[in-house]
Amino acid sequence: MSLTPTLTPLPPLPEGFADQLRASLGPACVITEADRLAPFLIEERGHFRPDATIVLTPGSTEELARAVTLCAEAGVPMVPVGGNTGLVGGAVARAGEVMISLKRMNRILAIDPVNYTMTVEAGCVLADIQRAAEEAGCLFPLSLGAEGSCLIGGNIAANAGGTGVLKYGNTRDLVLGLEVVLPDGEVWDGLRPLIKDNSGYSLKNLFIGSEGSLGIVTRAVLKLFPRPVQQETALCALDSVDKVLALLSLARRLSGDAVTMFEMMARFPFEIVCRHAEGRDPFDRPHPWYALIQLGTPRPGTDLRAQFEAVIETAWEQGLIIDAVVAESLAQARALTQLREKTPEAQKRAGASIKHDISVPVARFPDFVTEASAAVLALIPDAHICAFGHVGDGNVHFNISQPEGMERAAFLSRWSEVNEAVHAVAARMQGAISAEHGIGLLKRDELDAFRAPVETRMMRAIKQAIDPGDLMNRGKFLGRTPPA
Ligand SMILES: Cc1cc2nc3c(=O)[nH]c(=O)nc-3n(C[C@H](O)[C@H](O)[C@H](O)COP(=O)(O)OP(=O)(O)OC[C@H]3O[C@@H](n4cnc5c(N)ncnc54)[C@H](O)[C@@H]3O)c2cc1C
Repeated sequence: MSLTPTLTPLPPLPEGFADQLRASLGPACVITEADRLAPFLIEERGHFRPDATIVLTPGSTEELARAVTLCAEAGVPMVPVGGNTGLVGGAVARAGEVMISLKRMNRILAIDPVNYTMTVEAGCVLADIQRAAEEAGCLFPLSLGAEGSCLIGGNIAANAGGTGVLKYGNTRDLVLGLEVVLPDGEVWDGLRPLIKDNSGYSLKNLFIGSEGSLGIVTRAVLKLFPRPVQQETALCALDSVDKVLALLSLARRLSGDAVTMFEMMARFPFEIVCRHAEGRDPFDRPHPWYALIQLGTPRPGTDLRAQFEAVIETAWEQGLIIDAVVAESLAQARALTQLREKTPEAQKRAGASIKHDISVPVARFPDFVTEASAAVLALIPDAHICAFGHVGDGNVHFNISQPEGMERAAFLSRWSEVNEAVHAVAARMQGAISAEHGIGLLKRDELDAFRAPVETRMMRAIKQAIDPGDLMNRGKFLGRTPPA
């Protein structure tokens, strides 16, 4: 099955282009050998087959700007790539395109623990940024399953979400300033650590979440926070998804809004993590739903444990939960969080899956799960509903796993039909079809149906204004031919 949308064929790269790039940028910066290209030609979900023949790895903004200028002058389209962990094919490059990797631009340039800011190059691995913040006594709260390999430039381009959004917001809320190389090679220096800046349009916000379609993020000023000095983690078992919102509300109220993570999992994802990804079920029997709750506070002297116990006891008395395990050590807390984090890995091993990244207004979360499950089971009665996600953000990864006894190809041939059914439920609830993963190639052709024509028009006008030659990430989320 191919999920690749129709793409306008690209002209071949100009003759001798790699040599021209080498002459200007130096040989170390230009990769053309098959074995060195190979790691860039992998696509996380295996939906697409990238076949770029040149990858550039500049080591500074100046080098990157030079590389972009050379491509722009030759009319060669470019695809920026970070850690290549994106889930919608946004960093997939074709043979007529040049990939520009940020991985060598990986310096942490400054940390200011007094003003709670950090300035970094876009090629820093997210986990390295988290660690550096921690060493300075601060917290950089962006956290997601791919944090050991995704790069902050990719996080910014994708406006990544993750598990800390409930408390700290999306990546958009964590960026104060940006430096960007524009599609013609000019550098925009917006690297300002300003909290308030109402001088005109917020240009930085155009680039955040633009999936590399407007320019290449090269540096960023990030927002830091005081580091939590106490953290408590629990896994709760629920008999119905309908109770999950009342549990979240209770936890926020009784903890003085100290909930830093609130994740939900249906039984199926929980089961496959235990079966395929070394998870261990801490309960003595299966339950239909699980909620992973983490409280954290930077305030010394708070008895967070007592607050957490009050949450659990009250939830129990109100019939919101049927069992709970509170971590007694950091290792136990880690084991509980891994039950949620390892879901994508386990799903890969549990057969084929049809995936959705939905957000709905938080209040509609249970209704969405119930109605979308019914819609899917009406199409494929034995399908496994592999729903998990960030309840507090109204974001559910509503994935469907291959049922036993159904051929992989037969299951995957139902992809569009299942997508349509699930997305229709989301649309009825004013939801979004991409909560945090972006559009890329995977959802390109569906986007128009979920956007008012005026939104599409404004987006195209922005793209045209900043990238008139359509050089950045051509054919991705704005790639469909505009209606005549
Ligand atoms: C196990 C796993 C768990 C995940 N969990 C989450 C999650 O909880 N929340 C979430 O939001 N995502 C999640 N993701 C998706 C992915 O990790 C994020 O989207 C991440 O932000 C992508 O970063 P990256 O560096 O890998 O970007 P890439 O995949 O390399 O690129 C992503 C997009 O950004 C563009 N791009 C990359 N770098 C730049 C740059 N410097 N300037 C301009 N454009 C650029 C690319 O062209 C592409 O369109 C997960 C992925 C995996 C594999």
